[in-house]
Amino acid sequence: MEREEIFRQRKRLGQNFLNDPNILRKIGAAAELKQKDNVIEIGPGKGSLTKHLALSAGKVTAIEKDTRLKTFLDAEFAESANTRFIYEDVLKVSLSRFSEGGKMKLVSNLPYNISSQILIKLLDERELFSKIVVMLQKEVAQRISSPKGRKSYGSLSVLLQSCFSVKVAFKVPRRAFYPVPEVDSVVVVLDPLEKPVFLVSTEKIFRTVARYAFSSRRKTIRNSLENFFERATVKRALLDSNIDEGRRAESLSVEEFARLADSFHRTSQ
Ligand code: SAM
Repeated sequence: MEREEIFRQRKRLGQNFLNDPNILRKIGAAAELKQKDNVIEIGPGKGSLTKHLALSAGKVTAIEKDTRLKTFLDAEFAESANTRFIYEDVLKVSLSRFSEGGKMKLVSNLPYNISSQILIKLLDERELFSKIVVMLQKEVAQRISSPKGRKSYGSLSVLLQSCFSVKVAFKVPRRAFYPVPEVDSVVVVLDPLEKPVFLVSTEKIFRTVARYAFSSRRKTIRNSLENFFERATVKRALLDSNIDEGRRAESLSVEEFARLADSFHRTSQ
């Protein structure tokens, strides 16, 4: 294959491989791995993180889209009985396939080009996990961990923080990767909350309201929501949840979004 073609494929798959043993060790430590743990890794690449996971956990299932890595990984892990590789697109895989009825941990240096989609997938499948440790592009890490009131606070912050405690663990320098990426990276720990901030029956409307509320950030919450719902419904829901219609979405806490979703849910019954 031409060098140029390899380079383009790498970029498309978000392939920047970690090669700093200290960072690999720190990621493993953030996941608090134990010998009984059943771990999923998304995108093992050449398996450097996988090796650390295989040493500390009971079982590792690594899901990799790039089938060109198969020969290399099969040889590299021939002696590693607790590790298996699944060559599929993680976005098309139901992760419950690997849970064996118990909770799993997920540890991954995510492909950055699809990290938001993967985070939403993990949100959908959150009940499978006791802990999630992911490396992300700095901006995405800032978004999902952002408190209200910041520019980085948006629907992804609200959606993830409604179901997880989101903590930035540490920053990772660019030189820890090969090839050296154009962006900074951060490792984030997501611990599932005992129960979500919203009422389970309102999850669908909670997500919709959070997305719509941030659709035009400069508008008031009332105006943003009126682009999608009946004017009277918006007015009633804001009144009912005791949220001033002149506020902007970024000033609302996750709990206020939950209250608002509950009001929409009730007023639309
Ligand atoms: N874990 C390795 C490391 O830290 O060195 C590689 C991480 S690299 C940032 C992301 C990996 O995800 C690549 O190996 C890439 O091929 C893989 N990948 C990209 N898209 C994927 C998808 N949809 N499903 C599964 N793996 C994917």
